Amino acid sequence: MSLDSYAPRLSQHRLLILDDEPLTGCTLQQMAMRLGTEARSVTAIDEFLLQIETWQPDIICLDLVMPGMDGIEVLRLLGERHFRPQVIITSGVESRILQAAERSAQAHGVKLVGTLPKPYTTRELRQVLARATGQTAPDTEQAPRLMAAVREVSVDDLQQALAQCELKLAYQPKVSCRNGEVVGFEALARWHHPVLGHISPDVFIALAERNGLIDALTLQVTDQALTWLAGFTQYWTGHETAQEYLANAQISLNVSALSLGNEMLFARIVERCHELGVAPQRVILEVTETSAMQDGTTALDNLTRLRLQGFHLSIDDFGTGYSSMVQLVRLPFSELKIDKNFVMTAATSEESQAVIRFMVNLGRSLGLTTTAEGVEDESAFSFLKRVGCDRVQGYWISRPLAPDAVIPWCLAQGRLD
Ligand code: C2E
Ligand code: CA
Ligand code: CA
Repeated sequence: MSLDSYAPRLSQHRLLILDDEPLTGCTLQQMAMRLGTEARSVTAIDEFLLQIETWQPDIICLDLVMPGMDGIEVLRLLGERHFRPQVIITSGVESRILQAAERSAQAHGVKLVGTLPKPYTTRELRQVLARATGQTAPDTEQAPRLMAAVREVSVDDLQQALAQCELKLAYQPKVSCRNGEVVGFEALARWHHPVLGHISPDVFIALAERNGLIDALTLQVTDQALTWLAGFTQYWTGHETAQEYLANAQISLNVSALSLGNEMLFARIVERCHELGVAPQRVILEVTETSAMQDGTTALDNLTRLRLQGFHLSIDDFGTGYSSMVQLVRLPFSELKIDKNFVMTAATSEESQAVIRFMVNLGRSLGLTTTAEGVEDESAFSFLKRVGCDRVQGYWISRPLAPDAVIPWCLAQGRLD
């Protein structure tokens, strides 16, 4: 697809530019118009507010650094007038100022979609406009520069996201190797930041762990996942054939090794299960050991207590780093999760095949359920089935799904009424 194929869609939008430098504003206006966007440029706040009222633009380019004019005040005025445009900041301000501006924008209900530090090219403008209009820019060549200008995610962002319940969950189905039945779902945290876009769980989980926010995050994830599971169970009442196994589907929750010593957290998980009528047998807590795990005795006590109450415990990423034999025998696990790196290379590597065979046999001899993750094609699935792996998870079965997409996915499996 050529870059220009985006121009007609941009034309449905109106862009208003506020810059005290008439030449800068006009240049930007010309560039935007060449891209097919309706654009106007103003230099004074009165004129700007008049255009807002009468012309009603949906995208605004705003210079925060204007002599005699305050960009933050402009954001407030927009909020007061109940205008909710997408705002692009056209000054290359340092990241702390940008963070503060972003908080102000958010507080006033205004959405900051990106920055366009001067000097910029037509290509960069097109990129940021595509983002403002919800289109994915087709050419990512310039994206790193723009993203860098938008800054990295901070602990304040995460704190705010937790306070505003911005974290969502995706559910990845897990099926039985024996008969293909859906046995459960793994809840995976997702975070779409209003300005920075999608943040990888590897980034924000590590950020939460470093800054003492991981327990709060786990609680939010647990609350959402258990509430979703209760609703999911409810849905299948009356679907005779599906009811038996879907109504008993399990939920897997990822628990940081750093949380294992936290009794309060587990007490809260038990309480939530009770309140929502979810049997502990339907909850699997997946743990990846790390070197950071400190209080081994409390962790052992807590995990043993959870097992006694019926919860399942899974050793995640088995075969990598610290999730090893030592932990497997020390802690009361009931599931062994074969790391996706072995599974994804099984087709091409005899070593990976040997490791998988070994893990499946080990799991069986210890009376554990074995689950393989990262199943991306049929050959991996057939191999796992052949060696006696119990359960599989991976893109070949399904990618992680948005909550609303899970029931349609189950129905599309064709084995349900
Ligand atoms: P994980 O627990 O090992 O989760 C599996 C990851 O593999 C997920 O990545 C999933 O999207 C991805 N995946 C699943 N099937 C396939 C496949 O067939 N091929 C490939 N290449 N990848 C596949 P995701 O969602 O990016 O999560 C990354 C990690 O972040 C998770 O790894 C988990 O350690 C952590 N995480 C996610 N949500 C939470 C959470 O709520 N709490 C904690 N503590 N950690 C979480
Ligand atoms: Ca996991
Ligand atoms: Ca894993």
